[in-house]
Amino acid sequence: MTPEQPAVRGVTRAQTYRELRDAAGVFTSGLRERGVGRGDRIVLIAPTVPEFAQAYVGALAGGVVVVPVNTMATAHEIGYIVRDSGATLLLAWHGCDTSARTAGEWSDLPGWTFDETTVDGARDASGLPPEAMTGDETAVLLYTSGTTGKPKGVRLTGDNLLTAAQIVVERVEITRDDRLGTALPLFHVFGQAVCLNAALVAGAPISLLSPFTGEAMLDLIRRDRLTVVSGVPTMWNAMLHAGGEYGPEDFRELRVATSGGAALPAEVLRAFAEKFGCTILEGYGLTETTALATFNQLDREQRAGTVGVPMPGIEVRVCDERDVDLPVGEVGELLVRGFSVMAGYWNRPEADAKDLAGGWFHTGDLGRLDEDGYLTIVDRVKDLIIRGGYNVYPREVEEVLYEHPDVVEVAVIGIPDDRYGEEVAAVIALRPGSDLDTTELRLWAKERLSAYKVPHEVRFVDSLPKGGTGKIQKRALDWSTLATNV
Ligand code: ATP
Repeated sequence: MTPEQPAVRGVTRAQTYRELRDAAGVFTSGLRERGVGRGDRIVLIAPTVPEFAQAYVGALAGGVVVVPVNTMATAHEIGYIVRDSGATLLLAWHGCDTSARTAGEWSDLPGWTFDETTVDGARDASGLPPEAMTGDETAVLLYTSGTTGKPKGVRLTGDNLLTAAQIVVERVEITRDDRLGTALPLFHVFGQAVCLNAALVAGAPISLLSPFTGEAMLDLIRRDRLTVVSGVPTMWNAMLHAGGEYGPEDFRELRVATSGGAALPAEVLRAFAEKFGCTILEGYGLTETTALATFNQLDREQRAGTVGVPMPGIEVRVCDERDVDLPVGEVGELLVRGFSVMAGYWNRPEADAKDLAGGWFHTGDLGRLDEDGYLTIVDRVKDLIIRGGYNVYPREVEEVLYEHPDVVEVAVIGIPDDRYGEEVAAVIALRPGSDLDTTELRLWAKERLSAYKVPHEVRFVDSLPKGGTGKIQKRALDWSTLATNV
């Protein structure tokens, strides 16, 4: 690592590796002074800004377990995580410290609010010890909603984080001469493990953007001449629909975009390559697998529609409900084993026994492998719609609707139906000015899909609800309150 090389760049400030190390040291010693020691948990709430990296690295360097929390979390949600994790301090970015402060008061916990000036004047802090990100102890606890029940803390060890970052660096061929960029939240595994940690391990600079808009991301690519960007499909979509004047020279150095977190519509992949001259490499992973399971890799043939092949050191199986392997091409639940799989959930022995049964992580996702080992994600087990005994995979229907030029965002869901048990419904955000109506949209779907998959009902909305990562959140859609279309 070159100390004078740029490390993290925000919208207005940039830091070299030396400055990052010194700034992180302020957090390492500040935590120590506040009585937080090795193995203690702290809640960290901050947007995608360089100071997140300082606090994160500083805490890890001191052996403190970081519990990053969504910046949009309410005091109740933060309070739950504080109690569940047994955190002893709330470290919050100014501007998102209101809920944190309330949660801290409720649970009688000290808070530490930080901003751009917290590390001013930092000099010769103890530096980043190389062991900051190694070992089999829990390094971070990432809370995930999972399939059912209350959020659970996913225990990722230093080894999980370091190995994941190294594999990304190797597979995406990231060198110090690259310039990475993302607007992904750093409290989520994708932004943290695949973007921030990979940049730090490579010794490359990373540009951070918050909040995300399509225009702002395109401006960042142009300003910092980014070579590698990472995001979720809604972000690529927003970039494709962004206004502003950009020419091919603005993206000339952009060599790869990595996408994950949700299905990448084939249409978005195609349009992105055409407009920005850059391939999107789609991968698949979960919080429980340090974001990594399979990936469309640079040195292998890309297969659109697939999420690539397992990363080196990772195995994927497709199984039935009894964990028996299914033949190639059949759809079943995906089981994952390898370096990226979590150590377990925090204080959840029953969930560990179930989700890690037999030493394999049970993802709750449905997929199929082809004879060359390429994986296709079919859907989440819980999103499957069963209409009159037929399985409808929402993702397949969404793909078809995305192909319509007026459709910007879509979520296909199952709604209760007296006759069929469940009926297929679509919630859609259209391009501004579009006058597409339900009849026309159903006709589009009917020409391309079997009759039972065609959305029976359609609702148009301005935009779809999204989680912290920008992924469309189907569970936040309340069909009964969506306005009826005329
Ligand atoms: P939240 O709903 O809060 O985002 P989550 O259940 O989505 O939480 P994550 O660990 O963030 O938890 O996301 C993992 C899930 O994202 C996977 O189980 C899978 O369903 C989906 N996913 C990730 N990558 C892809 C992909 N490339 N294609 C399709 N689905 C994906």
